[in-house]
Parts: sequence; structure tokens; C-alpha cells
Amino acid sequence: MPRRPLTWLIPALATAAAVTVTVVVVPQGGGGAPDDRPAPAAHGERPAGKAEPDARDVVLAVHGGAGTALDRDKTSPEREKAYRDGLAGALRAGRKVLDKGGSSIDAVQAAVVKLEDNPLFNAGKGAVFTADAGHELDASIMRGSDLKAGAVAGVKSLRNPIAGARAVLDKSPHVLLAGEGADDFGARHGLKTVTQDYYWTQARWDALMAAKEQEKGDRGRGGGKGVPDGRKAADSPAALADAQSKGTVGAVAVDRKRDLAAATSTGGMTNKLPGRVGDSPLIGSGTYAKNGTVAASATGAGEVFIRGAATSTISNLMEFKGAGVASAAYEVIVKRLPGLGGDGGVIALAPDGAFDAPHSSPGMLHGYVTKDGKIVTKIFPDETPPNS
Ligand code: ASP
Repeated sequence: MPRRPLTWLIPALATAAAVTVTVVVVPQGGGGAPDDRPAPAAHGERPAGKAEPDARDVVLAVHGGAGTALDRDKTSPEREKAYRDGLAGALRAGRKVLDKGGSSIDAVQAAVVKLEDNPLFNAGKGAVFTADAGHELDASIMRGSDLKAGAVAGVKSLRNPIAGARAVLDKSPHVLLAGEGADDFGARHGLKTVTQDYYWTQARWDALMAAKEQEKGDRGRGGGKGVPDGRKAADSPAALADAQSKGTVGAVAVDRKRDLAAATSTGGMTNKLPGRVGDSPLIGSGTYAKNGTVAASATGAGEVFIRGAATSTISNLMEFKGAGVASAAYEVIVKRLPGLGGDGGVIALAPDGAFDAPHSSPGMLHGYVTKDGKIVTKIFPDETPPNS
């Protein structure tokens, strides 16, 4: 029998090797969850990567939380307008600061204060309830030019927690103050204080009641710890983020000096244990800003964003791997974090105005303003397809 030359084997082996590598190296999402919790449902196809940012020439962007986004069919025109006006009002407040030659850190603070004062969002007035029917608020702010940061966690009486975070940055040698000490520090520095009923809204109260009902139901069925979403394991971070936490707020900005800043503020998650602290007040998880790389503010399953060091990892990918803002944010939010068992999103702004807002949650309310003053708001999932 004539001997066939072995060269035909080489492409076949190469193909086999490629197939093996593909199968072994791409266990994103469920297959890779290291803690046996079910991974969140996939919301559509994942593109292979992301090179192009969503927008360019952006000077300021805000978000109003990830989770189950507004449903276009069930949202009245009045409600749609209220959300868009809320985001646009925050963008205008921040832009005003930048237009006057103000700093990016003042701009993000001004934008977040507006969102904290708006009862639609889960920050300041309108914050969600803890399991014992109280309010504990978290916030942080960071300046990219000197990596200075300030944060407060579990505050109960500051009207604007982001102002508390800023006071920690400006007036203390610390980065993070928690609980009573943080409230007292804010009050001593002249910040407005309120009683707990200030934060109350009917919608958040109803959400707490629904969570308690669900908790009872879960217990009755021998289930988990009280997450109002029977479709997912009751105590998975994904269920917590989807079902309980809508409306965390954040802002990122770049000013004339190309200094970056980021800020995030939240009431956390409905029915959270008293004392629970999420990612929002943690520098490198919920908030990060570093000149030359990125300003980023996150929202979603806080525990997962902490474990994945979400926002600082975006900056590190840009700094150490030369990734662009879109691919770095996509890598962290869409490719890595869902594998830890939770979803959410981020707004990320590079110093050249390249902006991206990837999210693995079904939606993320956000908006941005460009340097020529154009304001864009996105509140429905079809305006912000997930995983893109
Ligand atoms: N990340 C926030 C937290 O875990 C919640 C959210 O963004 O919706 O407290």
C-alpha cells in the first residue's frame, strides 16, 4: 500500500487542538462559577469582544441603577418622563459645574446630589429599607488626579451621603467612615441631617413588604433567605441584584484639565441585613477614578462587585494591558463578574471622552452629556441591550 505523506495530519491536529482550547478556556458564566451558586441567566448573545465605545466626546455621565430595567410596555409616558428628567437634571447640574471651569469632582458630586434628592432613585430620599425597616446609606467619591477618595457606609441621618463622602475626602485623614461616626462627622462639618422618615417612600416600603412575603414563602417551601424572586436561588447575589436593588446612582466626569472623578451613592439592597455594606462605598469595587485610565461607577450585585474588585480592575486592564475603555469594561462586567454569580453594570469614562456602559443585568438606567451639550438618556432595555 502506498504510504500517504503525514503532512495531512498537521492541519487536522491543529484544528483538534483549537477545539480543545476553545472548550477548556471559555467556561464563562455558569460553568465557571466557583462557589456553586447558579450563574445568572444569559441575557442574549455575547459578542466576541468590544473595541468601540458607546459614545465619544462625553464629559459627564450618570447611572440610575442596574437590575430589572423599566419595561417599555408597562411604563406610562409620565413615568418615562420622570426618569428621563431625573437623569437629565443630574447631567445638567454636573455640566453646569464643568461649564464654569469647575472640577470633575465637584461635577460628579453635584450630579449625585440631584439623584439623591430624587425619590425615584435608591439613594438619599427614596433609599431602600433594611430588614429591620430602617435605612442605611453608602456613598463614595474619588478624584483621579491624586487618587484621593472619601466614603461613608451605613449612615442613617445624612441627607446627602455623597456630601459625607466628600467631607471625609476633604476634611479627614481617612478614606472610609462607617455608622454613627460617619453621621457625626458629617453633622460636625455642617452637612444637612434628617430623621429616618425623610428617606421613606411608598414604593420602597412596598418592596420591603414584598420581600418579607417572599421570605415567608421561601421558608414555607424550605427555601432560602428571603429574596423576592423565586426564579433564582433565593440567596444568590444575582437574585438580590435583580429583584431588590434598582436605583443606585453614580456619576463620572472629565474636566478641562483632563482630571477624572467618579462617585456612587446607594441605599443598598431591600431587606439587607442591618450592617451590610455593599460595593458602592468601597474604592476599587463600586467607584474608581485614576487620571490617564478611567472614571468608573458601578451598580449591581454588590457582593460580587467587591469580590471581583470591579472598577479598579477596569483601570488596571487599561493601565497594564493597554486595553481601551470599552474592552476593559466589557471584560470585567460581561465576561468576568457573571462567573462569580451576579450581574450589574458600570459607567466608564476615559480622559479622551470615550464612554461605555456595559451591563450584564437586563437593563441599566443611564445617560451622558457630550462636550457640545447633547444630552442622551437610556432607560429601556431596547436602548441598552445587555452584554454589549
Ligand atoms: N451595588 C449596590 C449594593 O450592592 C446595589 C445596586 O447597585 O443596585 O449595595
